[in-house]
Amino acid sequence: MRIFDPHIHMTSRTTDDYARMAAAGVLAIVEPAFWLGQPRTNPGSFTDYFDSLIGWEPYRAGQFGILHHATIALNPKEAGDPRCRPVLDLLPRYLEKDRVVAVGEIGYDSMTPAEDDAFERQLAMAVDHELPALVHTPHRDKARGTQRTLDVVASSGIAPGRVAVDHLNEVTAGIVHDSGCWMGFSIYPETKMSPPRMVEILREHGLERVLVNSAADWGVSDPLLTLETGRAMLEAGFSEDDVDRVLWRNPVEFYGQSGRLDLSEVAGAREATFEGSSIKRGGS
Ligand SMILES: [Zn+2]
Repeated sequence: MRIFDPHIHMTSRTTDDYARMAAAGVLAIVEPAFWLGQPRTNPGSFTDYFDSLIGWEPYRAGQFGILHHATIALNPKEAGDPRCRPVLDLLPRYLEKDRVVAVGEIGYDSMTPAEDDAFERQLAMAVDHELPALVHTPHRDKARGTQRTLDVVASSGIAPGRVAVDHLNEVTAGIVHDSGCWMGFSIYPETKMSPPRMVEILREHGLERVLVNSAADWGVSDPLLTLETGRAMLEAGFSEDDVDRVLWRNPVEFYGQSGRLDLSEVAGAREATFEGSSIKRGGS
């Protein structure tokens, strides 16, 4: 099983995680810019972080044979903070970088007017820089937040096929499917979305435009839940080719739209198979 995790925050993880991921068949990842776990107080805090996302973190991943790309944005949690908003003017220089494959994470946290403004401006930047957009949906009031997200995307002028709407569940998957945007699912150990629930969603909505990620971050999370989802798919009767589509070819197709996804270092280099994977289930 070859795995591309399209949304994982390695900044908050240890090298042990990289080692486990590599052993499980994770060959490529995309790390979206997000918050630090505590509020940033100035734009310089962002630029140091962005520099690490396109410099230090790819190096760290590379030590384990994992190809690392990033998405760059002012995240929804900080989009309303006046101390942070000046970073919007600094984003264009980062959106030119080779390792940046989308604008993200953008979208809503509390659905305030300031978040509206940051969301719309950053969708416009995605259009200007010919990049896809990775959109976070709020964990509170998710149905209303997702609908509003889709309305803003529709009026922004970006093609729906260049937008991934993430952190979906059974309630929100359908409207995103119908919108033509990509459907992103973050699998968690205890809350929000599990491998068995993900399998049911794949049965209902199919494999097209679906991205599955582990979203590993500061909270309770597990970077191997992509692998667990692949195993659950096989147990439920999906084929190895189906698993490869969801866990590898789909993220390659989505981020490939940036024109910057360089898989030459990994493609075919290591065909990690399901049988060959020796990773134990669960745990962290
Ligand atoms: Zn995230």
